[in-house]
Formats: sequence, C-alpha cells, structure tokens
Amino acid sequence: MNIQSTFTLNHGEKSMPWVGLGVFQVENGETVAASVEEAIVQGYRHIDTAAVYENEEGVGEGIRRGMERAGITREQLFITSKLWNADQGYQRTLEAYQKSVARLGLDQLDLYLIHWPVEGLFPESWRALEQLFKEGKVGSIGVSNFQIHHIETLLQTAEITPAINQVERHPRLVQEDLKQYLVQKNIQPVAWAPLMQGGIFSEPVLMEIAESLGKTVAQIVLKWHLQTGWAVIPKSIKKHRIHENADLYDFELNNEQVKAIHKMDQHHRVGPDPDHFDF
Ligand code: NAD
Repeated sequence: MNIQSTFTLNHGEKSMPWVGLGVFQVENGETVAASVEEAIVQGYRHIDTAAVYENEEGVGEGIRRGMERAGITREQLFITSKLWNADQGYQRTLEAYQKSVARLGLDQLDLYLIHWPVEGLFPESWRALEQLFKEGKVGSIGVSNFQIHHIETLLQTAEITPAINQVERHPRLVQEDLKQYLVQKNIQPVAWAPLMQGGIFSEPVLMEIAESLGKTVAQIVLKWHLQTGWAVIPKSIKKHRIHENADLYDFELNNEQVKAIHKMDQHHRVGPDPDHFDF
C-alpha cells in the first residue's frame, strides 16, 4: 500500500484512491491552487471538492500545475465534486454538473456526489446522475451524508447503486452500523472530517498509541480509518501536514489499538445531522 493505492468501485472503470486531499473551507485562488499542486507533487492522486466550497476554479488551477510538475496525465488523477442542495432536481442537477466541470476546467469528473439527502428531491437528482453516468459524462456517481434510510429510499427507484457514501467519521463518531450496511450493499464508505476537524489531537488514548508507534496522532487516526475499511480525505493547506497525512505505510495498528480507538465513540458529530439539517 502507498498513497496511490486504490480500490474498485461497484460501477465505473476507474478505481479510487484510499487517500485524497480535502479542500473544504480552503480559499479559492492561490491558497487552494497551491495546496492541490503540492498534494499532487507529493503523490496524492485524489482531490475532493464541492460546488458549495466555491473553490473549484482554484482546484482546477492546482490540478493543472500539479500535473505539470509531477509529470502525470489527467487519467492518473481522481477528481470528486458534489451537487449542492439548491441545485437538486433532475434538470438543475444536469446543469450544475456541467458548471462544476467548467469551473474546474476539466472534461469530466471521476466522481460526482449528491452532497446532502434533500428530502423529496434526492431521488430525482439521482436520476440525473444516472443519466450523466449512462452518457459517459462522469466516471462514477455516489452520495454523501446519507443515512441507511436515505439509501433505502434511493434504492427503491435507483437503477445504479451509489459507488460510495461520504459521511462524517472519526474516533468520536465511529458509524459501525452504517459501515456494515454499506459493505453489505457494496457501497464504499468514505470518511469526511477524518481528523474531527482538528479536535482530537490531545486525546490521551490516541497520544499514547502515537507515542508507542513513533507516529503522530493524525497518522494514527488516518491509519485506523484505512485499517477499518474507510477511505479518507484529510484537509490541510500546510506542506508538512500534507506530507504527514500521506506518510501512513510504515506501521500498523494492532487489534487492541484499533479496539481502543473504537471505544472512543460517543456518537458525537462536529458537522450537521443528516436527519435534521435546514440548508
Ligand atoms: P479534517 O478532519 O480533515 O480536519 C482538517 C483540519 O485538521 C485542518 O484544518 C487542520 O487544522 C487539521 N489538520 C490536518 N492535518 C493535520 C495534521 N497532520 N496535524 C495537525 N492538524 C492537522 O476536516 P474536514 O476538512 O472537515 O474534512 C476533510 C474533507 O472532507 C474536507 O476538506 C472536504 O473535502 C470533505 N468534507 C465533506 C463534507 C460533506 O458534507 N460531504 C463535509 C465536510 C468535509
């Protein structure tokens, strides 16, 4: 395994890297372009953005600069973006996709996600994503912030099963029931806020494991995600942290360490609850 290791999705031809760079709350323009460029140069091959992050132009700029410096082609990268809630519905979704692609300056995305399960609208939005996939305009399609019941509703009318479900997941929100369900449906779980947005660095359990393995808490937590079957998209704009978050392949957690991290679960969210959001 290394930073470029991938897994196969349940549909689509391209496999997806286990580790990607997140760019939520990263300013459009030079800040996001420089982070994306740096990540690609360091070996990252997956970038996760969204229309609502309002930085797709800068991400596109970073992709072009990164490809040039790393000497790689577009085919070697895996780019994800997401449909914003205000754009849900069949026709709006088709238009929103083209706008994201245009802002990124790409021909197409490798993965397009429904960002949140907007009640009453997401089945229609999904039909549009299926259309984009069938026309070969997007590599794979998936969802984000879907609970089990949202996926059950979606599958009642879906022709294509989502390739992934990207949800909040970290040691304080382990999401084991959701994960078991996703695995059974052949939907890959992906963790957002894998580092709890920076809120777990002084947890004694994690600090102790980090010290015993000679790694940082961030590396321990990211490795825990990978060893428990979750893909991750940690965010950082700092060069040394972008490097640190990809340096995960010279150690393993043992079963006791994995269990100790699972025990930290408090069903605690740092982001909105997918059953009670109003945006
Ligand atoms: P995260 O858990 O990745 O935490 C990011 C923060 O942790 C950084 O701002 C930085 O302060 C800190 N950090 C990162 N690496 C560190 C290190 N090695 N050492 C010390 N501190 C470090 O949180 P996130 O950005 O919210 O989530 C990751 C990505 O997931 C986002 O950037 C975005 O792409 C995606 N996301 C998706 C959704 C969704 O609804 N689908 C929601 C939020 C985020």
